[in-house]
Amino acid sequence: VPVIGVLALQGDVREHAAMVESAGGRAVAVRRESELAAVDGLVLPGGESTTMSRLLETFELLGPLRERLAAGLPAFGSCAGMILLAKQALDGRPDQHQLGALDVIVRRNAFGRQVDSFEEDLAFAALPGGPLHAVFIRAPWVEKAGDGVEVLATVPGADGTGARIVAVRQGPVLATAFHPELTGDDRVHRLFVEMVRDAATTSETEER
Ligand code: GLN
Repeated sequence: VPVIGVLALQGDVREHAAMVESAGGRAVAVRRESELAAVDGLVLPGGESTTMSRLLETFELLGPLRERLAAGLPAFGSCAGMILLAKQALDGRPDQHQLGALDVIVRRNAFGRQVDSFEEDLAFAALPGGPLHAVFIRAPWVEKAGDGVEVLATVPGADGTGARIVAVRQGPVLATAFHPELTGDDRVHRLFVEMVRDAATTSETEER
């Protein structure tokens, strides 16, 4: 059973842990470097990305997490977690840290100009079983995705503007602008648990 850490500095940690367990992983809270070192994958929950970026520094996790991500640690970021994983955030504070694990530019609070929070049924590529009910809370969107980034879900733009990217995958890194931990549907977490399993198998093969 893959051991999946949930970054437990802030945000909806308990909900993610429950979904990881429901999806077949073993969930552990990650607050220190030694705990980070012991996981096969990491969930970065929603919350407030500026605060979380500051807490990563305070808990001396910023450097170690960047290193593990650069070495291929599978990660799943939701909302603020997506913002942290991105290489660049627009409308962020200048002192906000980026983990740079996803070749995307995100825009913070992007839907906020229209509406703070909303729910929408999404067609989500790579998930079995029909549309996914998605809850957006002061959500970002992906403004620009690099060539290696797979777009998994979009929402239609308001007033004839283009569709907005709200879920992406790049190799072992998955991110959603919305909160799959809040709906009782564990398919996104199942996808992530599968990605963690695949990454483990690949690295074992490489070691041989
Ligand atoms: N608006 C928050 C941020 O910019 C994210 C909100 C969320 O995670 N629900 O960090």
